[in-house]
Amino acid sequence: MTSAQQPSQIEPVHIIGGGLSGSEAAWQIARRGVPVVLHEMRPVRSTAVHKSGQFAELVCSNSFRSDDATASAIGLLHAEMRRLGSLIMQAADAHKLPAGGALAVDRDGFAAAITAALENDPLIAIQREEILLPPAEWESVIVATGPLTSPALADTIRALTGEASLAFFDAIAPIVHRDTIDFDIAWFQSRYDKVGPAGSGADYINCPLTRPQYDAFIDALLAGEKTAFHDFEDTTPYFDGCLPIEVMAKRGRETLRHGPMKPFGLTDAHRPGEKPYAVVQLRQDNKLGTLFNMVGFQTKLKHGEQALIFRTIPGLANAEFARLGGLHRNTFLNSPKLLDETLRLKALPRLRFAGQITGCEGYVESAAIGLLAGRFAASERLGETLRLPPPTTAHGALIGHITGGHIETIDAGARSFQPMNVNFGLFPPLGARVARGEQKPALCTRALADLEAWTGAALRHAAE
Ligand SMILES: Cc1cc2nc3c(=O)[nH]c(=O)nc-3n(C[C@H](O)[C@H](O)[C@H](O)COP(=O)(O)OP(=O)(O)OC[C@H]3O[C@@H](n4cnc5c(N)ncnc54)[C@H](O)[C@@H]3O)c2cc1C
Repeated sequence: MTSAQQPSQIEPVHIIGGGLSGSEAAWQIARRGVPVVLHEMRPVRSTAVHKSGQFAELVCSNSFRSDDATASAIGLLHAEMRRLGSLIMQAADAHKLPAGGALAVDRDGFAAAITAALENDPLIAIQREEILLPPAEWESVIVATGPLTSPALADTIRALTGEASLAFFDAIAPIVHRDTIDFDIAWFQSRYDKVGPAGSGADYINCPLTRPQYDAFIDALLAGEKTAFHDFEDTTPYFDGCLPIEVMAKRGRETLRHGPMKPFGLTDAHRPGEKPYAVVQLRQDNKLGTLFNMVGFQTKLKHGEQALIFRTIPGLANAEFARLGGLHRNTFLNSPKLLDETLRLKALPRLRFAGQITGCEGYVESAAIGLLAGRFAASERLGETLRLPPPTTAHGALIGHITGGHIETIDAGARSFQPMNVNFGLFPPLGARVARGEQKPALCTRALADLEAWTGAALRHAAE
């Protein structure tokens, strides 16, 4: 097919799910002159949290977080999406509410604007139905059914991907920016200096605790305020190897010291004569080596409490967290293994995935991945190849996390790939030495310049 074809000659892209990602994908595809059929099950059938039949309903907070495109990764993502003609950002800007530096929206006006835009688009046909199995004759499909994908479709996806490749709960351990760890206290070493299949014998960052520090840490964990499960998260998802640390601490004061905080096989590089009573280990989380996760530290502690308590760990006093821990109902794929670079299921490339089900986290990130999935699908229908966004952009960094940036490990619970918000730890570091306070603005400037070059190249390519 070529871009000279009339829309009526082009087979449509079918999108399943009209949430944040599916709505953005539909909009992007139609902007390229490619027809779309958008299948949304609401209001015929709802999820446990949606309340309306509107597209892009915000199920909880009405905040899109910081709008600062000079110093925050999410603000940068907003700016990039605006430049890429995002419907979600257009509607958010049109329905914004006062919220300091954050972009907050009037949720009803926002969803109504998206619904009207999609319903009035001549290239978008809307079908209100639950899809259980995408029919074989649909040549191009985007599955954007989100964290609460209907059970019947989840069964279909699980049959296609394998039992262990679709998770129904996330079990999230905090992730720390490596450059905020104090290496006058912490040191690199693998337990018993084991090299393993891809290691060096010094792969983990170790933070030592004395007995009084350990005791105080356990007390803080036990006293810390926890997040309650939602009513619909009725099956407590604890399974061995993935217990929240506070649940382990409750089972006995020494449990953690014999589990994720065991000190054995490790020698404090700064005080080799002193045996630590307990050790917190952090393991490399992304290929860039900028992010390290706290091994075995999945938790239901409230985010504020986590930051306070984890900063009492020696070496982490000034830690900045790319992600804090959690445990939620969430349907998501083991994407780095299953999806290709353009979000297609390797085993069945006519199916592409978008939104939170791919392993991003949050309204805006889900919409951004919908935007990319839509553009990839439209290019494919038009017989063109769309280059990937540069990894230095927020879009490129986010899709990189989903399709390849994460390092797969086996001892972080059932599966190590877990959902993530966009954050600067996902971006390749700056080549030049830049003063600490100027790094975020420099990353943002680089991202917007590289996005400009990418969109310019895409336009030139389309015109050829
Ligand atoms: C309880 C809860 C609270 C959250 N709070 C926040 C928050 O405060 N801030 C934040 O940024 N993120 C929050 N999130 C995450 C949020 O859901 C996602 O960030 C975002 O909505 C995901 O976008 P999506 O398009 O992937 O999925 P969704 O927006 O959930 O859209 C998926 C759509 O697919 C439809 N669907 C499902 N199965 C089928 C099927 N078989 N056939 C047809 N249609 C189907 C659903 O009805 C839905 O409309 C929360 C998630 C949950 C579960």
